[in-house]
Amino acid sequence: MGLTDNVHQLSREHLKTGPDGKAHKVPALLEELRNAVTPGHAGSAGGSDGGPPIPINPNALDLLCEIERDSRRDYFEITSEAWDSTLEELLQRFATMDLAADWSAYLERVSLEYIDQITAMLWPVKPRRKLVGKVCPSCGWATYGEERKTCLSLGCWDDEGAMKKVGEWDIECGSCEAGWTGEQMIFLLRALDTRDEIELTQAR
Ligand SMILES: [Zn+2]
Repeated sequence: MGLTDNVHQLSREHLKTGPDGKAHKVPALLEELRNAVTPGHAGSAGGSDGGPPIPINPNALDLLCEIERDSRRDYFEITSEAWDSTLEELLQRFATMDLAADWSAYLERVSLEYIDQITAMLWPVKPRRKLVGKVCPSCGWATYGEERKTCLSLGCWDDEGAMKKVGEWDIECGSCEAGWTGEQMIFLLRALDTRDEIELTQAR
């Protein structure tokens, strides 16, 4: 990681490792963020004229404006000149400038923050559901480690953040790494008596 690499991810098509473990070409993060500002725009197939107005995602717009404003301000503070081209070109300019060490460290940090903010907004990850206070039948513990993390967790969200069918859930132990799926998982859920917390019937 470094400023050059951060700018590359933000402003150019780049390679990213997918769930299949292979590297895929993905668009620049700023391009993805721009597309998210008007989500109906890119995906609307066969768009007829006179349809409803394109909705705006205000959070995506705010983040984009914030990154643009801060970057232009930084450039002005460094050079005493206003930047007169696109945000992408500005970030790429930062990566090739002969910067003072403190500016270099600052821009490296904020560019990484931009990556994290865009990623968190566009692809929010729902955490596995902790089964607090439940004892793992494999290792016999409910918590592990100095931080006393919860052993058992339930995976019930798909990649889009929607709840999966109960039969596709899984339970894992973070301590002994035992795992349960399918009928075994359902049997274990019942054995742990988690029904009231997890609302099995509602999720079905
Ligand atoms: Zn265990």
